[in-house]
Amino acid sequence: MIWDFDYSSVSAIAKLLEENGLSMTKKFGQNFLVSQQVLDRIVSQCGGLEGKTVWEIGPGIGALTTKLLKAGAAVTSFEIDHGFCRILREKAYIEESRFRLVEGDALKNWKDLYNKEGTPDVICANLPYNVGSIFIASLIEGRCVPQRMVYTLQSEVVQRMCAKVGGEDYSGFTVLTNIDYENREAFRIKAGCFFPPPNVDSSVVVMQERPEKLVPEELVPRLVSLVRVLFSQRRKTVKNNLKGLGLKNEELGKLLATAGVPSGERAEKLSMDQLIALTKEFEYATHCSHSKETFE
Ligand code: SAM
Repeated sequence: MIWDFDYSSVSAIAKLLEENGLSMTKKFGQNFLVSQQVLDRIVSQCGGLEGKTVWEIGPGIGALTTKLLKAGAAVTSFEIDHGFCRILREKAYIEESRFRLVEGDALKNWKDLYNKEGTPDVICANLPYNVGSIFIASLIEGRCVPQRMVYTLQSEVVQRMCAKVGGEDYSGFTVLTNIDYENREAFRIKAGCFFPPPNVDSSVVVMQERPEKLVPEELVPRLVSLVRVLFSQRRKTVKNNLKGLGLKNEELGKLLATAGVPSGERAEKLSMDQLIALTKEFEYATHCSHSKETFE
């Protein structure tokens, strides 16, 4: 059974929190979406949800959760605030068989569920901004890659996810989030659509899994670690950033040339194709040195 609560009413929310001895805390990035129109637009970006499995991070008291359930999804929500969890369990979704709550830190808890049940069809969340990019990065590095993810995030983070090579916003996070996905900013959300209004700009990003893989699965960990090194010091050239990886200067020069990467280039100028080529060359160089160790 789904609770009939007026999520658009700030006074109803304030009353509910007060009655339950709860308050909103900045520490957990608690800004509830009160605009029903915005919530509907977010859910519509998820595509058809009937019969789909959806993970939601940070349901709060359930504004987005209710919309996802009404769209026919089976929803697993991860919530850290034990007071909100009590409301979800005891008021909002009593005996609602398509709702499941995982209480605690989503950053710690998602992996257990993933190991047991695999990837959900969709992840949809109004993410707490303080952990938004960390959460997305942890999914991708942990290889939890649902067909679609729809997130409300700080606009600045969305710009990085959608940045083009060479641009100011192009970063290691751009590359990481583009390995498996095509990202687009669906729309912006005005601060007044939240309670309380956040003091940063907000956007909804849609991450759609690529129809064809850009990177062979076995190369992903190597690409991720290379990206981390390459973007660690943006002002340094690619060659200087890679010097610590154990290759001789000459070897490194050759490897960069074979991958089509000018050695004086900076990481922010490297396209996905160049980064993938570089990853393959590194994999090959290490593989050869392994073979030598084994067979000589
Ligand atoms: N989904 C609700 C909405 O749209 O109105 C609330 C979104 S609010 C921006 C973020 C929610 O994430 C809060 O309920 C907060 O308690 C929760 N949260 C913050 N950090 C979390 C974490 N590490 N794991 C799980 N939930 C978290």
